[in-house]
Amino acid sequence: MPIRGPIDLHTHSSVSDGTETPGALVRSAIAAGLGTIALTDHDSTAGWADAFEAASGTGLTVIPGMELSTNYGPASVHMLAYLFDPANPAILEETARIRDGRLHRAERIVERISRDYGITWPDVLAQSVDGGTIGRPHIADALVAHGDVADRSAAFQTILHWQSGYYEKYYAPSPLAGVRMIVAAGGVPVLAHPATHGRYRVIEDRAIAELVDAGLFGLEIHHRDNTEDGKIRLYELAAKFGLQVTGSSDYHGEGKPNRLGENTTEPAVLEKLIAAGTGSTPFRG
Ligand code: AMP
Ligand code: FE
Ligand code: FE
Ligand code: ZN
Repeated sequence: MPIRGPIDLHTHSSVSDGTETPGALVRSAIAAGLGTIALTDHDSTAGWADAFEAASGTGLTVIPGMELSTNYGPASVHMLAYLFDPANPAILEETARIRDGRLHRAERIVERISRDYGITWPDVLAQSVDGGTIGRPHIADALVAHGDVADRSAAFQTILHWQSGYYEKYYAPSPLAGVRMIVAAGGVPVLAHPATHGRYRVIEDRAIAELVDAGLFGLEIHHRDNTEDGKIRLYELAAKFGLQVTGSSDYHGEGKPNRLGENTTEPAVLEKLIAAGTGSTPFRG
């Protein structure tokens, strides 16, 4: 089947830290004129079915995906995963462990914040969906609702900043373990926004080479958080290791300024990605 319309391979719904339900996200993607989106909620596939249902009969293609949390030493590294088997036991077990770790970590962060500000744990739960992936954005929403900060961005620059004194990390596998797990589940791994401001050398070339050996498919180069210097280095890496180049918005609804389709992926790259993924299939609505 021919690929039609712009391709945006990184979006979030309310199943994680986006502000729109999967159905509303699909309608926004259609309104934005996109032909293909990937739904890539953090550490969860719970939105896939609703996204497929909403896309049915609309002409929009939905690539089932996820943004897997990994830890590389002190750094949090995000790994996009596409077209894997959502029932794969290792994926189910590991993502459940990450979500549980995120939940308890958020509780501890809120515990500390509540000594200085008026928010409580129920306030944060009220900002998230049942069984969804909890993150700092939900704490940000509680702070906004309570009048402590203007918006999510302001919360991240202050109270939720990793150097604020309230921050803590959460359990996640290494990037290498993540790539191996995704590939073993028939999926296609792409390193998300690998050159974000100030820390674009966080994964050295040698470690990238290991990820490539394990089956890394591509690098998300066209992303607003990658620095211009970082993009140049990423292009060199892509050439050196034969990696594909993707671009995407990382849309979070009203939770971030990122707009659908602000960066896109070439149809030829999507074709290769679809050919490489064997754990699940694109939903052609
Ligand atoms: P966490 O997963 O709890 O560590 O929180 C990180 C998440 O917060 C990322 O997935 C981003 O989507 C979101 N985030 C990071 N910085 C900002 C910001 N300045 N404004 C809104 N959301 C942000
Ligand atoms: Fe996010
Ligand atoms: Fe990310
Ligand atoms: Zn993301």
